[in-house]
Amino acid sequence: MPAALGGLTVDRRRFLFAVAATGAAALPFVPRPAKAQSRTAVVDLWRSRIGAILARGGLPIIDMQATYLAETNIARMIEFMDRLDVALIAFAPANAPNSQPSLALHGRYPDRFIPTTNSGEFPRWWNNPAAFLAGVKNELKSGQYFLMGEHEFRHYPSPEQVQAGQSQRDITIPIDGPAGDALFRLGEDSGVPFQIHYDVEDRLLPPFEAMLTRHPKAKVIWCHLGMVRYPDRAKLYGPAYVRGLIERFSGLHFDLAVPAPNNIYRPSGARDSTIYRDGKLDPAWRDLLETHADRFVVGSDYRLPIEARYGDNIERVRSLILAALSEPTRQAIAYGNAWRLTTGSAWTA
Ligand SMILES: [Zn+2]
Repeated sequence: MPAALGGLTVDRRRFLFAVAATGAAALPFVPRPAKAQSRTAVVDLWRSRIGAILARGGLPIIDMQATYLAETNIARMIEFMDRLDVALIAFAPANAPNSQPSLALHGRYPDRFIPTTNSGEFPRWWNNPAAFLAGVKNELKSGQYFLMGEHEFRHYPSPEQVQAGQSQRDITIPIDGPAGDALFRLGEDSGVPFQIHYDVEDRLLPPFEAMLTRHPKAKVIWCHLGMVRYPDRAKLYGPAYVRGLIERFSGLHFDLAVPAPNNIYRPSGARDSTIYRDGKLDPAWRDLLETHADRFVVGSDYRLPIEARYGDNIERVRSLILAALSEPTRQAIAYGNAWRLTTGSAWTA
């Protein structure tokens, strides 16, 4: 959005000016290592960072869903991370020819950012998913990536796009077509988890279940738990349906990147965050999170137009979701499950 981008530019200039005035030593800059570190070394760095937050009584969060652009104000994100006990962010690059920007960011701050392949939220994915995934397949061979970004199969225009009168991100790519097949197969063959954006419609559920049946080893993260933008089209979906899926498909996970309880999706007029009731986590959804505590992760859905709201979004996950859960469930959802999905092993201090 021009207004938001304009504001960001000013902030960034101010920041750069402040750095020039005070000297770059104030920046928490970790020099880029001469060559890529081993996965073990990287995982050790992450363990230390999480351990340090736990040691001072904090609840570390691994933010598994965030979109990275060249304009992202990393210094500001680092401030957010330190203030909010966000241990790690999986930044998936958008509007880039490949996933390299995520690796470069990780190279500068190896203890903070999870190397993540391209986000499928921009035209290179919609226009040619086969080429997009061929690139990702090649990149995964390096062994340096821990997660694949969010791939849009059904996506209604985002709130920012609605506000701007744009509908170019009304996306439909059949999940059981060639693109879905290539992604699920890549996930299964590589063992690397991947994220999907799949706005809920009853008619879209059978093909999704067919894919989960066909690719039982794929680690799928279905983003935005309980986000329903057209309730008339999604009568089957709810905590009971999700429970059924979880019990049938052991690789299926969900992230908690959801709008605020009172948010209205303007095109339909629906209150789209259905995991809340009366401003609190709905008991039926809370029971599901408790019963299947190993299937949910935190995501901020960070994107540039809402950068300033990152703190509010993380605080809301903490106060409305994590605080409503038992201690073991809270630990699993805040970082334990994300740790297991990205590193391949259960969390140990
Ligand atoms: Zn999404």
